[in-house]
Amino acid sequence: MVQEHTALMVAQEQLDIAAEKLHLDKGLHEILKRPKRSIIVSVTIKMDDHSIGVFEGCRVQHWDVLGPFKGGLRYHPNVTLDEVTALAMWMTWKCAVVGLPYGGAKGGIACDPKKLSIGEQERLTRRYVSLIADYLGPHRDVPAPDVYTNAQTMAWIMDTYSQLRGYSIPESVTGKPVEIGGSEGRVCATSQGVSLCIREAAEKLGMKLKGAAVAVQGFGNVGYNAADILHSMGCKIVAVSDSTGGIYCTEGLTPYNVRAHKNKTGTVQGYEGSTNITNAELLTSKCDILIPAALENQLTNKNADKIKARIIAEGANGPTTPEADKILREKGVCLIPDILANSGGVTVSYFEWVQNLTREHWTLEEVNQKLEAKITKAFADVYKLSGKEESDMRTAALMLGVGRVAHALKTLGLWP
Ligand code: NAD
Repeated sequence: MVQEHTALMVAQEQLDIAAEKLHLDKGLHEILKRPKRSIIVSVTIKMDDHSIGVFEGCRVQHWDVLGPFKGGLRYHPNVTLDEVTALAMWMTWKCAVVGLPYGGAKGGIACDPKKLSIGEQERLTRRYVSLIADYLGPHRDVPAPDVYTNAQTMAWIMDTYSQLRGYSIPESVTGKPVEIGGSEGRVCATSQGVSLCIREAAEKLGMKLKGAAVAVQGFGNVGYNAADILHSMGCKIVAVSDSTGGIYCTEGLTPYNVRAHKNKTGTVQGYEGSTNITNAELLTSKCDILIPAALENQLTNKNADKIKARIIAEGANGPTTPEADKILREKGVCLIPDILANSGGVTVSYFEWVQNLTREHWTLEEVNQKLEAKITKAFADVYKLSGKEESDMRTAALMLGVGRVAHALKTLGLWP
């Protein structure tokens, strides 16, 4: 029987592939397989009904040889140390691929935020920050949003960290609301990056974006904004989904209206003029471009051969298993890997941190121009290397990211 892939198994297998291609020193390979530091905390809070809530949280700091740790914070019932470790490792490669002076980290709390009141979410966030504060900081580790955390969560992080230190430290976290030091363009940054990568890939394939059919799994920050941006670029959004299921419409959906429907009913399903489908059906639905923008392990050896898209842009982290990668490569699908496709988020997070450190505030135009320059350069670097190595883009991106980190690690040396 084929063993189910955990996120960490996928991340480590990807590292092995890159290490082999790079002829990486065995010792460096062993170092990069594991995180530098993993912190597990018990986050205890007063619930609204006066009972005590106990939640397991963690922060994994993979490697910081290129700069301070950077990475999102996830609230989800299925959060595990294994998953967060994989996400931290991917952050390390991602920052290196785009050329950001950061190391990779990730945090998570196993909880169901949909069942927590706003007050409970706030107490959970503040308690979590207080437990790991000694390992955070603008030059140590800078959190950002991820699944089921948002700008409000980041505001609580900034406030708690600042209160503990005794002065305001906006550069301690990114993805904050603009009024308290957030960057213009951060909310849409990941999706902007996904859309730019799709534009570049379509150009290489000679595919017209106008009228191209797009299916998006996940209708949160990344999925909704990607659908909205691509819709404004002339694409036809034929399918979207959230945790409750999906919808399909051959004539195309207007993401803004679907969101209004979701806000009213709690689901994208039942949207007028569309047909309800499952999340599994969305992935294999008729489309030119597929954007997984929800969770890991969605494209596997069970469904990869049924994928109809010519381009897959990984908005989510780790949505594809190595077996599915192989099948998709053989089918000739152009897959833009997560560490490139969704790097727009951490790129604008970096811009936010730079603005905070220099006490500046850039215009949206400036942010988007700088973002476009970083993403198109990273795309071109990866594309060129994949041509040179006759490999897929994931292998090329990993070779770039892992290679840069390994080189830095070797240059810094081991102490003592
Ligand atoms: P989010 O919480 O805003 O949205 C998550 C979406 O996924 C929601 O619509 C939810 O309904 C849906 N979902 C949850 N479980 C699902 C399931 N089983 N099937 C289908 N849909 C499901 O989160 P987000 O920030 O949009 O993150 C989505 C993905 O993008 C994650 O993999 C995250 O790591 C990655 N990512 C996010 C950012 C960022 O800046 N937010 C940056 C890079 C990568």
